[in-house]
Amino acid sequence: MASVDVAGEFETIRRLFAPLAHPEWGRGLKDDVAVVPSRPGYDLVLTKDAIVEGVHFLPTDPLDTVAKKLLRVNLSDLAAKGAEPFGYLLACHWSERCGWPERMAFCDGLRADQKAFGVALVGGDTVVTPGPAGFSLTALGWIPKGRTVGRAGARPGDAVFVTGAIGDGWLGLQAAQNKLSLASDRLAALIDHYRAPMPRVEFAPVIRDLATASIDISDGLIADLGHVAEAGGVGVEIDLELIPLSAAGQAWFDGRVDEQAALEKLVTGGDDYELAFTAAIRDEAALRREAERRHLRLTRIGQVTTGRGVIARFGGRPVSFEAAGYTHD
Ligand code: ADP
Ligand code: MG
Repeated sequence: MASVDVAGEFETIRRLFAPLAHPEWGRGLKDDVAVVPSRPGYDLVLTKDAIVEGVHFLPTDPLDTVAKKLLRVNLSDLAAKGAEPFGYLLACHWSERCGWPERMAFCDGLRADQKAFGVALVGGDTVVTPGPAGFSLTALGWIPKGRTVGRAGARPGDAVFVTGAIGDGWLGLQAAQNKLSLASDRLAALIDHYRAPMPRVEFAPVIRDLATASIDISDGLIADLGHVAEAGGVGVEIDLELIPLSAAGQAWFDGRVDEQAALEKLVTGGDDYELAFTAAIRDEAALRREAERRHLRLTRIGQVTTGRGVIARFGGRPVSFEAAGYTHD
Protein backbone atom coordinates (compact mmCIF):
# COMPACT_ATOMS: atom_id res chain seq x y z
CA MET A 1 0.00 0.00 0.00
CA ALA A 2 1.31 3.40 -0.95
CA SER A 3 2.39 5.52 1.95
CA VAL A 4 0.59 8.80 2.38
CA ASP A 5 3.99 10.52 2.60
CA VAL A 6 4.56 9.87 -1.10
CA ALA A 7 1.69 12.14 -1.86
CA GLY A 8 2.03 15.06 0.47
CA GLU A 9 -0.60 17.74 0.85
CA PHE A 10 1.25 20.43 -1.07
CA GLU A 11 2.29 18.12 -3.89
CA THR A 12 -1.30 16.96 -4.22
CA ILE A 13 -2.60 20.50 -4.42
CA ARG A 14 0.11 21.73 -6.79
CA ARG A 15 0.27 18.78 -9.17
CA LEU A 16 -3.23 17.36 -9.09
CA PHE A 17 -5.69 20.03 -8.06
CA ALA A 18 -4.15 23.25 -9.43
CA PRO A 19 -4.64 22.10 -13.05
CA LEU A 20 -8.35 21.72 -12.29
CA ALA A 21 -8.69 25.17 -10.75
CA HIS A 22 -10.62 28.03 -12.29
CA PRO A 23 -8.00 30.15 -14.08
CA GLU A 24 -8.85 33.34 -12.16
CA TRP A 25 -11.12 32.63 -9.23
CA GLY A 26 -9.03 29.75 -7.84
CA ARG A 27 -5.92 31.99 -7.68
CA GLY A 28 -3.85 29.01 -8.79
CA LEU A 29 -4.70 27.37 -5.42
CA LYS A 30 -1.77 29.40 -4.10
CA ASP A 31 -3.74 31.71 -1.87
CA ASP A 32 -5.84 31.20 1.26
CA VAL A 33 -9.15 31.81 -0.43
CA ALA A 34 -10.98 31.77 -3.73
CA VAL A 35 -12.54 34.99 -4.97
CA VAL A 36 -15.61 34.82 -7.19
CA PRO A 37 -16.92 38.11 -8.56
CA SER A 38 -20.57 38.63 -7.72
CA ARG A 39 -22.95 38.44 -10.65
CA PRO A 40 -25.43 41.30 -10.78
CA GLY A 41 -29.04 40.16 -11.03
CA TYR A 42 -28.30 36.65 -9.80
CA ASP A 43 -28.49 34.72 -6.54
CA LEU A 44 -25.64 32.42 -5.52
CA VAL A 45 -27.00 28.91 -4.80
CA LEU A 46 -24.85 26.58 -2.65
CA THR A 47 -25.12 22.97 -1.65
CA LYS A 48 -22.81 20.50 0.10
CA ASP A 49 -22.65 16.74 0.34
CA ALA A 50 -20.11 14.56 2.12
CA ILE A 51 -19.41 10.91 1.33
CA VAL A 52 -17.59 8.34 3.42
CA GLU A 53 -16.06 5.03 2.36
CA GLY A 54 -18.11 2.10 3.59
CA VAL A 55 -21.16 4.32 4.04
CA HIS A 56 -21.79 6.15 0.75
CA PHE A 57 -19.43 4.27 -1.52
CA LEU A 58 -17.88 0.83 -1.43
CA PRO A 59 -14.20 0.29 -0.54
CA THR A 60 -13.89 -1.45 -3.92
CA ASP A 61 -15.32 1.47 -5.93
CA PRO A 62 -12.71 3.06 -8.21
CA LEU A 63 -11.82 6.59 -7.07
CA ASP A 64 -12.53 8.24 -10.42
CA THR A 65 -16.18 7.29 -10.11
CA VAL A 66 -16.18 8.20 -6.41
CA ALA A 67 -15.13 11.71 -7.44
CA LYS A 68 -17.72 11.82 -10.20
CA LYS A 69 -20.48 10.70 -7.88
CA LEU A 70 -19.52 13.30 -5.28
CA LEU A 71 -19.64 16.09 -7.84
CA ARG A 72 -22.76 14.78 -9.53
CA VAL A 73 -24.90 14.39 -6.41
CA ASN A 74 -24.22 18.05 -5.68
CA LEU A 75 -24.92 19.15 -9.25
CA SER A 76 -28.19 17.22 -8.98
CA ASP A 77 -29.21 19.36 -5.99
CA LEU A 78 -28.51 22.54 -7.93
CA ALA A 79 -30.43 21.27 -10.97
CA ALA A 80 -33.44 20.50 -8.80
CA LYS A 81 -33.52 24.15 -7.73
CA GLY A 82 -33.22 25.43 -11.28
CA ALA A 83 -29.69 26.74 -10.71
CA GLU A 84 -26.83 26.45 -13.21
CA PRO A 85 -23.51 25.30 -11.73
CA PHE A 86 -20.21 27.10 -12.28
CA GLY A 87 -17.81 25.85 -9.63
CA TYR A 88 -17.10 23.84 -6.50
CA LEU A 89 -15.02 23.60 -3.32
CA LEU A 90 -13.60 20.22 -2.36
CA ALA A 91 -12.35 18.64 0.88
CA CYS A 92 -10.42 15.38 0.66
CA HIS A 93 -9.82 13.15 3.69
CA TRP A 94 -7.44 10.65 2.10
CA SER A 95 -7.16 7.25 3.75
CA GLU A 96 -4.13 5.01 3.67
CA ARG A 97 -5.29 3.35 0.46
CA CYS A 98 -5.12 6.74 -1.31
CA GLY A 99 -1.61 6.85 -2.73
CA TRP A 100 -0.58 8.87 -5.75
CA PRO A 101 -2.28 6.62 -8.39
CA GLU A 102 -5.55 6.71 -6.46
CA ARG A 103 -5.38 10.48 -6.12
CA MET A 104 -4.66 10.78 -9.83
CA ALA A 105 -7.65 8.59 -10.61
CA PHE A 106 -9.80 10.80 -8.37
CA CYS A 107 -8.64 13.87 -10.30
CA ASP A 108 -9.20 12.15 -13.66
CA GLY A 109 -12.83 11.69 -12.68
CA LEU A 110 -13.12 15.34 -11.72
CA ARG A 111 -11.44 16.53 -14.91
CA ALA A 112 -13.85 14.57 -17.11
CA ASP A 113 -16.88 15.85 -15.23
CA GLN A 114 -15.67 19.45 -15.12
CA LYS A 115 -15.70 19.30 -18.89
CA ALA A 116 -19.02 17.49 -19.11
CA PHE A 117 -20.85 19.88 -16.78
CA GLY A 118 -19.02 23.18 -17.26
CA VAL A 119 -17.70 23.65 -13.71
CA ALA A 120 -14.27 24.45 -12.27
CA LEU A 121 -12.57 23.84 -8.94
CA VAL A 122 -12.16 27.03 -6.91
CA GLY A 123 -10.64 25.75 -3.65
CA GLY A 124 -10.75 23.23 -0.86
CA ASP A 125 -8.82 21.41 1.81
CA THR A 126 -6.65 18.30 1.91
CA VAL A 127 -6.01 16.12 4.96
CA VAL A 128 -5.14 12.49 5.67
CA THR A 129 -7.01 10.22 8.05
CA PRO A 130 -6.19 6.86 9.66
CA GLY A 131 -9.85 5.92 9.17
CA PRO A 132 -11.91 5.37 6.04
CA ALA A 133 -11.58 7.90 3.20
CA GLY A 134 -14.10 10.70 3.01
CA PHE A 135 -14.78 13.55 0.63
CA SER A 136 -16.95 16.59 0.79
CA LEU A 137 -17.90 18.99 -1.96
CA THR A 138 -19.69 22.32 -2.05
CA ALA A 139 -21.20 23.13 -5.42
CA LEU A 140 -21.84 26.72 -6.48
CA GLY A 141 -24.43 27.86 -8.98
CA TRP A 142 -26.18 30.96 -10.25
CA ILE A 143 -29.86 31.60 -10.66
CA PRO A 144 -31.65 34.81 -11.69
CA LYS A 145 -32.55 36.68 -8.50
CA GLY A 146 -35.47 35.22 -6.56
CA ARG A 147 -36.10 32.38 -9.01
CA THR A 148 -34.92 29.39 -6.94
CA VAL A 149 -37.48 26.58 -7.03
CA GLY A 150 -38.00 25.21 -3.53
CA ARG A 151 -39.46 22.01 -2.13
CA ALA A 152 -42.48 24.11 -1.14
CA GLY A 153 -44.73 25.53 -3.83
CA ALA A 154 -46.76 22.58 -5.12
CA ARG A 155 -50.43 23.50 -5.54
CA PRO A 156 -53.42 21.17 -5.50
CA GLY A 157 -54.20 20.29 -9.08
CA ASP A 158 -50.54 20.39 -10.20
CA ALA A 159 -49.18 17.34 -11.99
CA VAL A 160 -46.22 15.34 -10.61
CA PHE A 161 -43.36 14.48 -12.98
CA VAL A 162 -40.09 12.59 -12.84
CA THR A 163 -37.16 12.68 -15.26
CA GLY A 164 -35.39 9.52 -16.45
CA ALA A 165 -36.01 6.17 -14.81
CA ILE A 166 -36.65 5.27 -11.17
CA GLY A 167 -34.96 2.48 -9.25
CA ASP A 168 -31.59 2.22 -10.97
CA GLY A 169 -29.84 3.63 -7.90
CA TRP A 170 -31.15 0.82 -5.71
CA LEU A 171 -30.70 -1.82 -8.40
CA GLY A 172 -27.19 -0.54 -9.06
CA LEU A 173 -26.22 -0.99 -5.43
CA GLN A 174 -27.62 -4.53 -5.47
CA ALA A 175 -25.68 -5.20 -8.67
CA ALA A 176 -22.46 -3.77 -7.24
CA GLN A 177 -22.90 -6.10 -4.26
CA ASN A 178 -23.45 -9.12 -6.52
CA LYS A 179 -27.01 -9.56 -5.35
CA LEU A 180 -28.71 -9.53 -8.76
CA SER A 181 -28.82 -12.14 -11.47
CA LEU A 182 -29.25 -10.36 -14.80
CA ALA A 183 -27.47 -10.34 -18.16
CA SER A 184 -23.97 -8.90 -17.78
CA ASP A 185 -24.67 -5.80 -19.93
CA ARG A 186 -27.67 -4.99 -17.72
CA LEU A 187 -25.59 -5.42 -14.58
CA ALA A 188 -22.88 -3.19 -16.01
CA ALA A 189 -25.41 -0.46 -16.86
CA LEU A 190 -26.82 -0.56 -13.33
CA ILE A 191 -23.41 -0.50 -11.67
CA ASP A 192 -22.43 2.44 -13.87
CA HIS A 193 -25.52 4.30 -12.75
CA TYR A 194 -24.85 3.58 -9.10
CA ARG A 195 -21.24 4.71 -9.37
CA ALA A 196 -21.84 7.77 -11.54
CA PRO A 197 -25.48 8.80 -11.73
CA MET A 198 -26.47 11.39 -14.37
CA PRO A 199 -27.50 14.72 -12.83
CA ARG A 200 -30.11 16.51 -14.96
CA VAL A 201 -28.12 19.72 -15.20
CA GLU A 202 -29.45 20.52 -18.66
CA PHE A 203 -33.02 20.51 -17.37
CA ALA A 204 -32.35 23.20 -14.72
CA PRO A 205 -33.60 26.12 -16.85
CA VAL A 206 -36.85 24.26 -17.50
CA ILE A 207 -37.33 23.57 -13.79
CA ARG A 208 -36.68 27.24 -13.09
CA ASP A 209 -39.28 28.40 -15.61
CA LEU A 210 -42.02 25.80 -15.18
CA ALA A 211 -41.82 23.82 -11.91
CA THR A 212 -43.83 24.89 -8.86
CA ALA A 213 -41.80 22.65 -6.49
CA SER A 214 -38.81 20.42 -7.14
CA ILE A 215 -36.41 18.00 -5.46
CA ASP A 216 -33.81 15.52 -6.64
CA ILE A 217 -34.33 11.88 -5.77
CA SER A 218 -31.64 10.86 -3.32
CA ASP A 219 -33.55 9.26 -0.43
CA GLY A 220 -36.04 7.43 -2.68
CA LEU A 221 -38.97 8.65 -4.77
CA ILE A 222 -41.57 8.21 -2.02
CA ALA A 223 -39.46 9.84 0.70
CA ASP A 224 -38.49 12.75 -1.52
CA LEU A 225 -42.06 13.36 -2.68
CA GLY A 226 -42.89 13.24 1.04
CA HIS A 227 -40.57 16.23 1.50
CA VAL A 228 -42.39 18.09 -1.28
CA ALA A 229 -45.79 17.28 0.25
CA GLU A 230 -44.71 18.34 3.73
CA ALA A 231 -42.97 21.54 2.63
CA GLY A 232 -45.98 22.56 0.56
CA GLY A 233 -48.68 21.51 3.05
CA VAL A 234 -50.25 19.40 0.30
CA GLY A 235 -50.85 15.78 -0.60
CA VAL A 236 -49.13 13.92 -3.44
CA GLU A 237 -50.80 10.95 -5.12
CA ILE A 238 -48.89 8.75 -7.51
CA ASP A 239 -49.67 5.65 -9.48
CA LEU A 240 -46.98 2.97 -9.11
CA GLU A 241 -47.89 1.49 -12.50
CA LEU A 242 -46.73 4.72 -14.15
CA ILE A 243 -43.24 4.65 -12.61
CA PRO A 244 -40.69 4.74 -15.48
CA LEU A 245 -38.10 1.97 -15.51
CA SER A 246 -34.84 1.73 -17.43
CA ALA A 247 -34.25 -1.18 -19.80
CA ALA A 248 -32.24 -2.91 -17.06
CA GLY A 249 -34.87 -2.04 -14.46
CA GLN A 250 -37.59 -3.47 -16.70
CA ALA A 251 -35.59 -6.66 -17.23
CA TRP A 252 -35.26 -7.08 -13.47
CA PHE A 253 -38.93 -6.23 -12.90
CA ASP A 254 -40.09 -8.74 -15.54
CA GLY A 255 -38.46 -11.50 -13.50
CA ARG A 256 -40.40 -10.64 -10.30
CA VAL A 257 -43.46 -12.55 -9.23
CA ASP A 258 -44.71 -9.97 -6.75
CA GLU A 259 -44.94 -6.82 -8.88
CA GLN A 260 -46.08 -4.59 -6.05
CA ALA A 261 -43.22 -5.62 -3.78
CA ALA A 262 -40.77 -5.07 -6.63
CA LEU A 263 -42.08 -1.58 -7.34
CA GLU A 264 -41.92 -0.75 -3.64
CA LYS A 265 -38.20 -1.54 -3.67
CA LEU A 266 -37.63 0.73 -6.64
CA VAL A 267 -39.56 3.71 -5.26
CA THR A 268 -38.08 3.58 -1.75
CA GLY A 269 -34.49 2.65 -2.66
CA GLY A 270 -32.95 6.03 -3.40
CA ASP A 271 -29.75 7.15 -5.15
CA ASP A 272 -31.57 7.80 -8.43
CA TYR A 273 -30.61 11.47 -8.82
CA GLU A 274 -33.50 12.11 -11.13
CA LEU A 275 -35.68 15.18 -10.65
CA ALA A 276 -39.14 14.90 -9.12
CA PHE A 277 -41.19 18.06 -9.54
CA THR A 278 -44.65 19.50 -9.73
CA ALA A 279 -46.02 21.84 -12.40
CA ALA A 280 -49.31 23.29 -13.56
CA ILE A 281 -51.15 20.96 -15.94
CA ARG A 282 -51.31 23.70 -18.57
CA ASP A 283 -47.50 23.60 -18.74
CA GLU A 284 -47.32 19.89 -19.51
CA ALA A 285 -46.98 20.36 -23.29
CA ALA A 286 -44.14 22.88 -22.84
CA LEU A 287 -42.40 20.54 -20.39
CA ARG A 288 -42.64 17.66 -22.83
CA ARG A 289 -41.26 19.81 -25.64
CA GLU A 290 -38.28 20.91 -23.53
CA ALA A 291 -37.61 17.34 -22.37
CA GLU A 292 -37.75 16.03 -25.92
CA ARG A 293 -35.33 18.69 -27.15
CA ARG A 294 -32.89 17.38 -24.56
CA HIS A 295 -33.64 13.72 -25.32
CA LEU A 296 -34.71 13.40 -21.73
CA ARG A 297 -37.45 11.03 -20.67
CA LEU A 298 -40.21 12.76 -18.74
CA THR A 299 -43.08 10.91 -17.07
CA ARG A 300 -46.19 12.18 -15.37
CA ILE A 301 -46.77 9.91 -12.39
CA GLY A 302 -49.48 11.64 -10.35
CA GLN A 303 -51.02 14.80 -9.00
CA VAL A 304 -50.99 17.19 -6.08
CA THR A 305 -54.05 17.16 -3.82
CA THR A 306 -55.46 19.08 -0.87
CA GLY A 307 -54.53 16.12 1.39
CA ARG A 308 -51.31 15.48 3.33
CA GLY A 309 -48.40 13.13 2.69
CA VAL A 310 -47.85 10.73 -0.17
CA ILE A 311 -50.36 8.17 -1.35
CA ALA A 312 -49.06 5.61 -3.83
CA ARG A 313 -51.59 3.41 -5.61
CA PHE A 314 -51.12 0.02 -7.18
CA GLY A 315 -54.03 -1.49 -9.09
CA GLY A 316 -56.09 1.48 -7.87
CA ARG A 317 -55.54 0.65 -4.18
CA PRO A 318 -53.33 2.67 -1.81
CA VAL A 319 -50.13 0.89 -0.84
CA SER A 320 -48.62 1.36 2.59
CA PHE A 321 -44.87 1.12 2.74
CA GLU A 322 -42.90 -0.71 5.36
CA ALA A 323 -40.87 2.44 5.90
CA ALA A 324 -43.99 4.21 7.14
CA GLY A 325 -42.02 7.31 8.07
CA TYR A 326 -42.20 8.23 4.45
CA THR A 327 -45.91 8.98 4.59
CA HIS A 328 -47.23 11.78 6.71
CA ASP A 329 -50.92 10.99 7.02
P1 ADP B 1 -4.83 26.22 4.80
O1 ADP B 1 -3.46 26.17 5.39
O2 ADP B 1 -5.53 27.51 4.97
O3 ADP B 1 -5.69 25.03 5.14
P2 ADP B 1 -4.29 24.90 2.38
O4 ADP B 1 -2.83 24.68 2.30
O5 ADP B 1 -5.18 23.81 2.81
O6 ADP B 1 -4.57 26.20 3.24
O7 ADP B 1 -4.80 25.38 0.97
C1 ADP B 1 -4.00 26.12 0.08
C2 ADP B 1 -4.76 26.35 -1.19
O8 ADP B 1 -5.05 25.09 -1.79
C3 ADP B 1 -6.11 27.02 -0.99
O9 ADP B 1 -6.34 27.84 -2.13
C4 ADP B 1 -7.09 25.88 -1.00
O10 ADP B 1 -8.36 26.30 -1.44
C5 ADP B 1 -6.43 24.93 -1.98
N1 ADP B 1 -6.78 23.53 -1.73
C6 ADP B 1 -6.38 22.71 -0.73
N2 ADP B 1 -6.93 21.49 -0.84
C7 ADP B 1 -7.71 21.52 -1.93
C8 ADP B 1 -8.56 20.59 -2.57
N3 ADP B 1 -8.76 19.36 -2.10
N4 ADP B 1 -9.20 20.99 -3.68
C9 ADP B 1 -9.05 22.23 -4.15
N5 ADP B 1 -8.28 23.16 -3.61
C10 ADP B 1 -7.61 22.83 -2.51
MG1 MG C 1 -5.89 23.28 4.57
